Amino acid sequence: MEYQKIRNLLDRLLECPSISPNNAGCLEIVAGELDGFNLQRIDLADTANLFASYGQGFPHISFVGHIDVVPANPAEWTSNPFIPTERDGKIFARGAADMKSGVAATVIAAKYLAKLMESEKITGTISLLITSDEEATGLNGIAAVMPILAERGINIDYAIVAEPTARENLGDCARKGRRGSLNLELEIVGIEGHIAYPEKLRNPIFPLAEILARLGEIVWDTGYLEFPPTSCQVSNFQAGLGAENVVPRTARAKINWRFNPLYTEEKIRQIVEKIVAEVCEKSTTANFSWRLSGDAFATADEIICTALSDAVKENLGTTLEFNTAGGTSDGRFLAKHGAKVVEFGVCNASIHKADEWVKAADLEPLAKIYFDCAKNIFTHFKNTK
Ligand SMILES: [Zn+2]
Repeated sequence: MEYQKIRNLLDRLLECPSISPNNAGCLEIVAGELDGFNLQRIDLADTANLFASYGQGFPHISFVGHIDVVPANPAEWTSNPFIPTERDGKIFARGAADMKSGVAATVIAAKYLAKLMESEKITGTISLLITSDEEATGLNGIAAVMPILAERGINIDYAIVAEPTARENLGDCARKGRRGSLNLELEIVGIEGHIAYPEKLRNPIFPLAEILARLGEIVWDTGYLEFPPTSCQVSNFQAGLGAENVVPRTARAKINWRFNPLYTEEKIRQIVEKIVAEVCEKSTTANFSWRLSGDAFATADEIICTALSDAVKENLGTTLEFNTAGGTSDGRFLAKHGAKVVEFGVCNASIHKADEWVKAADLEPLAKIYFDCAKNIFTHFKNTK
């Protein structure tokens, strides 16, 4: 797997200013690489999506990624964020780590896998699923594409999301699940008025403070598999007009849960709504605005985890650690549709920062690990038939 092939493709992608949800020509560049693949563009509203597949049937292994990037302020950068520049073995550009290097490496790996399937007569499917909106709302990205693929009879069995997961060095860390994230904006409505006439007031601040105190005391759980305990945090509390003699009509708080697979949105909502009902009783009313930003998922599948750890060991000689850290990712939408998901990629130390970089020396082993991981899965099923 030649370094120069991956590097050329990466440089071309990095030159496209594909700030979410702009494609800026990236998916055309990717499609141009994939001779012999079945190409489906699934563009939805402002978002461009590409599904490219080779072969058919089980096992269907998909490389998943995004070509969109977060904005970059050129004034904070040493070199132009959209002109890839190499210094001291690092390639600097917006998207270098998150995650155009992952896209470039998986595209090259997929091309080699197609050749291997041909020469070794391997049955199954290799595909690439790439979106132009993971970093912004993501509404028209992988979340929306998965049901469309299902309608077309396409089911992904194994997904390798090429997000940057390494802490320090390539091969130190991968993910086999993610925590869920749930937001609540809670508003308590009382009766406002002069502080000197308490009999006429229904102060909303007392019940809101009590609700938050009760939420803060809950031990949600003590962790699950590789997941840390579920946590509940308050990020905002607003009430009062600034005057010392006015009781306000409303009090508001923003609350967030990061939860492991022991919880669902429904389960958390039930607990919270019960507490709120008990506290508010008849004196005040509560308005809830819930927003789920991602469900929790866990990959308890030996085959894909072993295939990836073996690929890392073969190429780097290191032992891969799996965890469930980080924010949410597109992995959850694949898991929801039955895919076994792992996430693996380059070092994430510089993502979403000025002077984002990827190590040039990581590109070739990265592509080789993706290739070997998929090859190991194909081999597993061939051997066990
Ligand atoms: Zn990313």
